[in-house]
Amino acid sequence: MKIGVLALQGDFREHMAAIKSAGHAALSVRRVEELDEVDALILPGGESTTIAKLARSFGVFEPIKERITSGMPVYGSCAGMILLADKLANPAPDQETFGGIDMVVRRNAFGRQIDSFESKIQFAGDTLEAVFIRAPWVDSLGAEVEVLSTVVLPDGGSYPVAVKQGNLLATSFHPELTSDLRVHTYFFEQICKSHIK
Ligand code: GLN
Repeated sequence: MKIGVLALQGDFREHMAAIKSAGHAALSVRRVEELDEVDALILPGGESTTIAKLARSFGVFEPIKERITSGMPVYGSCAGMILLADKLANPAPDQETFGGIDMVVRRNAFGRQIDSFESKIQFAGDTLEAVFIRAPWVDSLGAEVEVLSTVVLPDGGSYPVAVKQGNLLATSFHPELTSDLRVHTYFFEQICKSHIK
């Protein structure tokens, strides 16, 4: 499998390293010819507004949307989750997303007090240490979206932080910033293998 990482801004290098550690080919994607080469794509953590604007100016915004619609496996972490949301609860002015997952995502959702933290969470039946940095969460989701992880706050509120819909996977946290490859492996084994055409 050739796994691309959208390499316009953010922690794309860490995702490339994780892909290689998991034994797959990692390609950076900035241009449409590079997008055409890959079987699957990872949208990194970073700043979702900047990534979307750069995707427009590099001419890959619409081509990525089209590949998402046509079934290419895509995994987005943090800013990448925001970019996969059909709708944002609190978009920046004119903020665009690729969409694909039927959910409303709230950016910078955890608030200033706890804007960066680590927490043990359940992910698809496994316990892992998750790194959250000015992370989003899912405010609401459609019937076709499967929740893989939830965070429960001290006030009792509980919010999805990892979701899957068909060919798409999104996490609020950053597995690329740890040496734990389980989320990447889940993407390769549970999504890429069945969705790469
Ligand atoms: N808050 C960022 C955004 O809106 C996401 C943060 C991250 O990727 N660590 O894009």
